[in-house]
Amino acid sequence: MSQQVIYMNDEFVKKEDAKVSVYDHGFLYGDGIFEGIRSYNGNVFRLEEHLERLYDSAKSVMLQIPHTPEEMTNLVVETLKKNNLKDAYIRLIVSRGVGNLGLDPFSCAKPNVIIIAESLSLFPKALYESRIEIISVATRRSRSDVLSPKVKSLNYMNNILVKIEANLAGVPEALMMNDQGYVAEGSADNIFIVRKNKLVTPPGYVGALEGITRNAIMEVAAEKGYDIQEGVFTRHDVYIADEVFLTGTAAEVIAVVKVDGRVIGEGKQGPVTNDLLASFRELVQEDGVKVYSEQLNVV
Ligand code: PMP
Repeated sequence: MSQQVIYMNDEFVKKEDAKVSVYDHGFLYGDGIFEGIRSYNGNVFRLEEHLERLYDSAKSVMLQIPHTPEEMTNLVVETLKKNNLKDAYIRLIVSRGVGNLGLDPFSCAKPNVIIIAESLSLFPKALYESRIEIISVATRRSRSDVLSPKVKSLNYMNNILVKIEANLAGVPEALMMNDQGYVAEGSADNIFIVRKNKLVTPPGYVGALEGITRNAIMEVAAEKGYDIQEGVFTRHDVYIADEVFLTGTAAEVIAVVKVDGRVIGEGKQGPVTNDLLASFRELVQEDGVKVYSEQLNVV
């Protein structure tokens, strides 16, 4: 394969040359935003929604992205093409840029725009077959009125603390509660519980990121006639669920078979998860932006 190149501020550079200054406020303060996006067989799944979330995050934190969404779409497509990738994980980062050591974001001249595309899956492949065990952790989700989880900022310390607890317990992922003890989400994925064929996922205000995968699953489930809704629930509801699964761009849809030592349902990937995963796998091939021109749907 030809050498990986990374998009950095109007040019493509070799991976080893893709470097940012230590004065970038993204590095100094986690001041910036990002998106994790996936391309399936040359189809960038729901790129429009990812870019909408990116531009919403940018507006919220007063970060001026120096490209229109249309230009950004082309840049993502270009990055995949340059790397000859069809199946890829794409990381789009817009940091505040280089400034001085003070906090003031307005000292930064211009944002750094970076797009990395490579093959990746969040969990080792074997876990998709074996399903995963998770725990709930003591680290709480940052309050929505402090730093809204809807802003996908570079400040992921909250999530990293969750990941540390998961690692120490020897599990690949963990659940965080909000300050009131309601289930919010995983360190980098949303949670769904299924009981008596009803699906529930926490609403944004509880502390969940409104995941693109989550929204896709909600749509697919509704189309298939499932009773699906946003709802507030506790760990108890998770323990007694028939099925539990996590969703996320990197994680995709992954069944959870044990939570805090409680076996979920029959301890294997359940029928609802199976059904939705199958529909999701079909959807990701179609719903998005086609990278290679021979795939363009001309109507
Ligand atoms: N929650 C958090 C905290 C995340 O970082 C992610 C990954 N972006 C998700 C949920 C899942 O969102 P999406 O389906 O858009 O990847």
